[in-house]
Amino acid sequence: MSVFCVKLYTISTLPSILHTPIEFLKGVGPQRAQWLRAEIAVSSYGDLLNHFPYRHIDKTRVYPISSIGASTEAVQVRGILTDMQEVGERSGRRLVAQLSDGTGVLELVWFQGIAWAKKNLEVGHEYLAYGKAAWFKSTPQITHPEVEAAVEENRAGQSLLEPVYPVTEKLKSRYITARSLGKLVLALLPQIGPDDVPEFLPAWVLKQWQLVPRFEAYHHIHFPPRQQAYEQALRRLKFEELFLLQLKLNQVKFKRHQYSKGFVFAVVGQHFNTFYAQHLPFALTNAQKKVVKEVRQDCGRGFQMNRLLQGDVGSGKTIVALLCMLLAIDNGFQTCLMAPTEILSQQHFTSISALLANMPITVALLTGSVKGKARKAILKQAEEGHLHILIGTHALIEKEVQFAKLGFVVIDEQHRFGVEQRAKLWKKSALPPHVLVMTATPIPRTLSMTMFGDLDVSIMDELPPGRQPITTVHRYESSRANVLDFVREQVDQGRQCYIIFPLIEESETLAYENLMRGYENVKAFFPEPKYWISMVHGRMSADEKDVNMQRFVRGETNLMVSTTVIEVGVNVPNSTVMIIESAEKFGLSQLHQLRGRVGRGSQKSYCVLMTGFKLSADARERIKIMCETNDGFKIAEKDMELRGPGDIEGTKQSGLLNFKLASIINDKELMETAKLVAENLLNTDVELNLPQHQALKQRLQQQQNKSYWSQIA
Ligand code: ADP
Ligand code: MG
Repeated sequence: MSVFCVKLYTISTLPSILHTPIEFLKGVGPQRAQWLRAEIAVSSYGDLLNHFPYRHIDKTRVYPISSIGASTEAVQVRGILTDMQEVGERSGRRLVAQLSDGTGVLELVWFQGIAWAKKNLEVGHEYLAYGKAAWFKSTPQITHPEVEAAVEENRAGQSLLEPVYPVTEKLKSRYITARSLGKLVLALLPQIGPDDVPEFLPAWVLKQWQLVPRFEAYHHIHFPPRQQAYEQALRRLKFEELFLLQLKLNQVKFKRHQYSKGFVFAVVGQHFNTFYAQHLPFALTNAQKKVVKEVRQDCGRGFQMNRLLQGDVGSGKTIVALLCMLLAIDNGFQTCLMAPTEILSQQHFTSISALLANMPITVALLTGSVKGKARKAILKQAEEGHLHILIGTHALIEKEVQFAKLGFVVIDEQHRFGVEQRAKLWKKSALPPHVLVMTATPIPRTLSMTMFGDLDVSIMDELPPGRQPITTVHRYESSRANVLDFVREQVDQGRQCYIIFPLIEESETLAYENLMRGYENVKAFFPEPKYWISMVHGRMSADEKDVNMQRFVRGETNLMVSTTVIEVGVNVPNSTVMIIESAEKFGLSQLHQLRGRVGRGSQKSYCVLMTGFKLSADARERIKIMCETNDGFKIAEKDMELRGPGDIEGTKQSGLLNFKLASIINDKELMETAKLVAENLLNTDVELNLPQHQALKQRLQQQQNKSYWSQIA
């Protein structure tokens, strides 16, 4: 026992060399240390070790100047400096040198660092120059090349693959270049021993997945003896990042399954059965049945359910939510359903009330605009336990809303709710209620594995029968008249149509004017009293919006002209045309959401993406994908590729995607592996108590101060 204590003591207190301030490294000193700290946050040996190169220069390859082509990228050239002169004036002032290797002449150009180049380079000497080649007036040229004397013995003992590190312009101007950082790392590496970068992956993981040891990986990521060694090092370190995250998230999930106490829904009772047998307006799809079953199983086990339901737009998530709520009610619990907007809450309230019209179940709507007596009455009902289903917006998480026995919570279109908001709802009962989170649009698998790795996931990948695929077309401004003719045809057949204008972020006023102009145009084409138009925009009061929306929902208006406020969830099955104005201004998931407002009934539906002629490559790509597919999962993948995961709503602040090396776009397979390994490991040892998992446990604890999962746990 005492030996164990001593050992622990030494591990935790012995200062690793990695904590040594960077200024003590040979070649650094106080001044450069300050710059390194300020510019690239390298303030210790450990920071430098973790400052990874973004590529390597293959020093074995020297290109003849004559081989530099129009498409040549980075090259290394060896030649004699034949000339060096300053030319130009003021901002055009530059240093131009000629490097000649017998096959041709390469120009080297400096706009900055002229003094350094003049001091360090001499005409008549031989140099190695490296950089991006470009052509200028039929001469190949490298601007701001990296240059060093071509002396063989310099490189004794060095790797031939030389690392290139990310540096800032400021560092460059102080002669700490992408390449010179390598010299510092080279000075550092021999001082680092295996104990400084201890292995924490269990041996069987290394073996089974052919991962190189950590110590080796840290060497080879900087100075690989071969390209393959670099790739192995990279793979190992990426795996490590992904694995630690998967382990954390899955540990939360596994522990919940094992320890968290949750309400037990023991029976499928009368309400559920009566509704299912008598009031269900259609047969459920297999996907819907599957999800109801998954939820029922989860809620019967005695642990708290935390489930994410991913279903494409129109896959019928609402009825699934309702069935689950009935299950809870049958077991003596209250439920609530939270939606991101008033309109959506209202709509859920209307449709759920209608579905439950002949059943002894109390449903209420609570939003910011429910006030006074009505509000008090609802709060009282909830608190006393008489209210079965409470539907609403953010208002539901306010303190004043208390339940006697809240057992099941549905959160619709979750990406608008933060983790903290979810947590607040859970505090409304003695045990945390079961939670079903429903997404507005599918999330790419790797992203959901990261963002929602702590949740169980249900996927509904089937649309209700009888839906015809929506036809999507791209039209330019010039065909507007044709488009409007088409809309009129549809409207004359009794259908309804949406015309959506973008929100203009820079100027709300501009967006508003845009919408108004659009409205006037539409009105001219669809005059009253033959046609009626609803309009909804951000400047309206909640009441005004609601009135306009409701008229459209009831079919009293033929057209809905709107900004994106109607984007999510709105359900008017009679509408068959969705016109999206300035479609290039919308992101893919938004376009898909908007399109999902049509094609919800049995009629053939259309989506028209209107744009100007000038389109960026990305916008063109987005529109092309929209015209090609209706599959939300495909669109989500593409969206992530185009925008990068960091831009997808809600992911930015979470910190979950701050990988140093790994990418959830490019390392899908490795992430799957990491998840699998994490699950295998937790299956046998969820607490990480086995001796072979101690190093791992310690490593996790070091990272534990990051807050995301501690909040959900
Ligand atoms: P979302 O998943 O986008 O929230 P909704 O729950 O609003 O979709 O359902 C979309 C439409 O499909 C609604 O009009 C709903 O009544 C209908 N619907 C849902 N499930 C089925 C089904 N199994 N068969 C036929 N229609 C269905
Ligand atoms: Mg919905």
